Amino acid sequence: MPGIGESTAGAIMSIAYQKSYPILDANVKRVLSRYSSINEQSTSKRDKQLWEISREVTPMTGIFEYTQGIMDLGSMVCKPKDPSCNFCPLNQICSSAFKTKEPLKAAKVLKIKPVKDINFTLAYTKNDFLLFKRNEKTFWDHRVVTF
Ligand code: SF4
Repeated sequence: MPGIGESTAGAIMSIAYQKSYPILDANVKRVLSRYSSINEQSTSKRDKQLWEISREVTPMTGIFEYTQGIMDLGSMVCKPKDPSCNFCPLNQICSSAFKTKEPLKAAKVLKIKPVKDINFTLAYTKNDFLLFKRNEKTFWDHRVVTF
């Protein structure tokens, strides 16, 4: 069906109909890549390998729990950055357990914006305000605003 890829079809079949179909959404790809240490650079080759693994690990029974579980695992535990291997049920058999910590990044240097106090006189008449439009040297250039 247009718009329904293999992974979506697998999710529909496994979650809605409890049929044993594999899925491979972004979260499941991450879990299976780490679980099996897939480092293939070519996206098409990597996806082919991951589909094979997904088919191998997809159970014949308990498919709803498996599908929902591996998607949740990918989104909440095996996160893109800093996976929580301590809480992962796969941490005894996963090839990447406790190895995928992001290197610490240097703390961002906060740019402090200068604060300027200004005083101004608002010249006005009953119908007009005299304003200065901002340019490079001053905050406002002169301009008359009429109400
Ligand atoms: S053990 Fe860690 S890297 Fe492996 S699947 Fe679980 S969270 Fe991901």
